[in-house]
Amino acid sequence: MEQTLSIIKPDGVSKNLVGTILKKFEDAGFKITNIKYLTLDADQAGEFYSMHKEQPFYGELVNFMTSGPCIPFVIQGENAILKVREIMGSTNPAEAKEGTIRAEHAESIDRNIIHGSDSPESAKREISFFFG
Ligand code: UDP
Ligand code: MG
Repeated sequence: MEQTLSIIKPDGVSKNLVGTILKKFEDAGFKITNIKYLTLDADQAGEFYSMHKEQPFYGELVNFMTSGPCIPFVIQGENAILKVREIMGSTNPAEAKEGTIRAEHAESIDRNIIHGSDSPESAKREISFFFG
């Protein structure tokens, strides 16, 4: 059993994809074991994405993540970290496999609907970032 942190980003919330996205993970056999609805401020978004601080897209990423409410949630199940990344699809929706959330719903690499932890260390850090 593994837990991972996902976020329905502001574009996913504003496009009314909350139910669609949660259902996709439940249909894949996962449990949603914690969930919140909140709007990040710039300090919080900057800290959450601090590993990307030196990237050219960092400022725009923080702007986007603070542009409206988002939904962080915890997904639990076998191999959750890797499987959730597969169900999300590639960061760039143009490269995402058919049927993935990003292929179906994301506009672009910088508006890509959903976040998912990329390793056990990230999952631990990101779950405690939102849920203590
Ligand atoms: N991002 C972006 N432009 C890029 C690369 C990334 O705007 O060229 C944003 C995008 O929202 C992405 C986030 O930064 O989801 C984190 O990037 P990462 O490489 O960790 O992708 P992810 O883990 O979300 O697939
Ligand atoms: Mg990442």
